[in-house]
Amino acid sequence: MHKHRMMTPGPTDVPSEVLLEGAKKQIHHRSVEFQRIYSEILDLLKIVFKTSRPVLPILSSGTGAMECCVANLTSLDTKPIVIEGGWFGKRWNDICCGYGLETETIQVDWGKSAEPELLEEKLIENPNCSAVFVQLCETSTGAVHPIQELQEICFKKGVLLVVDGISGVGAEKCETDEWNLDAVIAGSQKAFMNPPGLSYITLSDRAWNAVRNSKHTRFYFDLRKYLDGYEKKNHPFTPPTSLLHSQLAALKMISDEGIDNSVRRHSLLASATRAGVKALGLKLFAEHPANSVTSVWMPEGLDSSLFIKKLMAEEGVTIAGAQGPWKGKFFRIGHLGFVDSNDIILALSAIERVLKKMGVVIELGAGITAAQNILVKKGEYK
Ligand SMILES: *Cc1c(COP(=O)(O)O)cnc(C)c1O
Repeated sequence: MHKHRMMTPGPTDVPSEVLLEGAKKQIHHRSVEFQRIYSEILDLLKIVFKTSRPVLPILSSGTGAMECCVANLTSLDTKPIVIEGGWFGKRWNDICCGYGLETETIQVDWGKSAEPELLEEKLIENPNCSAVFVQLCETSTGAVHPIQELQEICFKKGVLLVVDGISGVGAEKCETDEWNLDAVIAGSQKAFMNPPGLSYITLSDRAWNAVRNSKHTRFYFDLRKYLDGYEKKNHPFTPPTSLLHSQLAALKMISDEGIDNSVRRHSLLASATRAGVKALGLKLFAEHPANSVTSVWMPEGLDSSLFIKKLMAEEGVTIAGAQGPWKGKFFRIGHLGFVDSNDIILALSAIERVLKKMGVVIELGAGITAAQNILVKKGEYK
């Protein structure tokens, strides 16, 4: 028998209190009771996104919110620039392609982060660009992009920066208003401690102008409908009320912790994880590693897919593999959302045992000791 522990960068573990809220009796989505719950959610979302502007719940997984951004913020007569540093950067390109847009790509090697100077050059070469698409945390590689610097460059050029913060918001520093971010999106199954199925979007005034001017045909994902619903504290379509009930409970937990404290917790847990794997002689994949997920090279000659299978079968711990061209080469430990110090220690200890059994030369306990040494300094993260 195993206790199952999910340490993936989405979906993430959901607290029982939150899950139980989702089991509540159904309410009608045009009732006063719904409006009360919905407006509470809308207020709490602003805290998590660090914005005073509306944050709109979209009824889809994260990719739907990405599509929403493409459908509402681009036009066929412009050429978006996509910063592609991994699987999810590629998804921006795929969605743009689906909308008939020709894009310009800034290819970033997997594991590396975008270089602001390169964006500056690309923008000069492409005066017809009106929007740049990027990730806050490129979940497939575990790297963070320098969003604040990228935004400053875009802002000066009057170009929108669209930030896929699906795995980042709540875990990475993301100052939507202070940094003048034009578009930020998130997903319920990442740091929002809720099951999959909801995503969130917030836009700057400049971005709202683009929404009004876009000539793309849209219906379900027309953000103007959502803004109208926001003002009436109502959703344009039938929302998943159960997921909203549970999301409200999770948002309350996040706001009770405090969003800055939540980011600090993620930063502490990520540091402990990195120290742990490094002490086992393993190497990190990302140059600028994220708070949400730690990517680790598999030791030479071993397949990370096999390691992940063993970790699940023998220890009940689920972590994620590498996607696309890197399959089998590295593994990813998710530590976002409902995660604490003990989860990190348990995951590292299971990783140690399985690596040892696979014949990797490691000293049992070295990883958890290094992590412990970071975790006892918790006070410094306050
Ligand atoms: C998880 C994730 C997505 C995809 O979201 P879905 O909910 O699977 O549609 C997109 N971008 C990033 C950065 C992610 O982490």
